[in-house]
Amino acid sequence: MAGRFDTRVERSADGGAAAVALLAAGEVVALPTETVYGLAADALDPVACARIFEAKDRPLSDPLIVHVPSRDWLEEVAEVSETAALLAERFWPGPLTLVLPRRKIIPDIVTAGQGTVAVRMSAHPVFQAVLRAFGRPVAAPSANRFGRISPTSAADVIAELGGRIPLVVDGGPCAHGIESTIVLVRGTGLHILRSGPVTAGELTAFGTVSGGVAGISAPGGLASHYAPRTPLVIGDSADVPSNAGLLSWRSVGAGFARVERLSENQDLREAAANLYGAMRRLDTAGLDVIVAEPVPEDGLGAAIMERLRKAAAR
Ligand code: AMP
Ligand code: MG
Repeated sequence: MAGRFDTRVERSADGGAAAVALLAAGEVVALPTETVYGLAADALDPVACARIFEAKDRPLSDPLIVHVPSRDWLEEVAEVSETAALLAERFWPGPLTLVLPRRKIIPDIVTAGQGTVAVRMSAHPVFQAVLRAFGRPVAAPSANRFGRISPTSAADVIAELGGRIPLVVDGGPCAHGIESTIVLVRGTGLHILRSGPVTAGELTAFGTVSGGVAGISAPGGLASHYAPRTPLVIGDSADVPSNAGLLSWRSVGAGFARVERLSENQDLREAAANLYGAMRRLDTAGLDVIVAEPVPEDGLGAAIMERLRKAAAR
């Protein structure tokens, strides 16, 4: 399937119109969101959604997130509890995905046959404009090949899916740089299936917050995910292997062949926004190993450490 398209990259206005036409024709298109770039297709068209799995080499067992054009669409695709409605009111549009009982309108391929559907509403102006013009929800996982580093720029999408998709709409770099927080809502139980920009602390006002639940296919639920091709280890910058790169949180990285700093002043937001780009640059630098310095595990740091552990798993 690779090599089928001469992938175009277009800026927002022109790209938006072309994206709507492609979605309406049942094709896939890469769009910017505030978290990472997504690969979108009509969420109500199973054949269009199948193209997402094909372009990403994604296993059909891994369900897709449905992005709605407006808050009103939530009831169309899912059963919305009071808690879920409050969460949507507080965090939408924004980087929070709600896992709720599905409605029949959502095809099985989107939910991987599960009784739940993951739903979110993006705050990105380009993404919102495309969805409003399209007038239907889209399914959109991250626009990378399965298991690899999520793209945070149009160039990253080309590196991952160039030749496999017709169009990338370039909306500049992503503000958050890591994927949405995913929360399974069951009564007043809020189970975090993937850490992200909306932190556990921010969710406690809405219910009892816990980690994932056994038996629920967790997001990027595999041990290895978001992974560079170069082996990555989480460790101390005092130990310098030969021909190693450092993904640095604090240190200057003396002795390392290449250093990428996540943030000059230890700002977790900046670190999250830089994480995947820095990993990608280290991954293409011809290194034998990447050492990642751990970040503090609180707030957004939990989401960053979750990504680093999956990147380190082999
Ligand atoms: P991606 O957008 O590529 O980061 O992937 C979306 C993630 O959402 C996947 O890893 C899924 O495991 C997760 N997801 C989507 N739908 C559901 C669902 N119904 N239940 C649990 N997790 C889901
Ligand atoms: Mg992904």
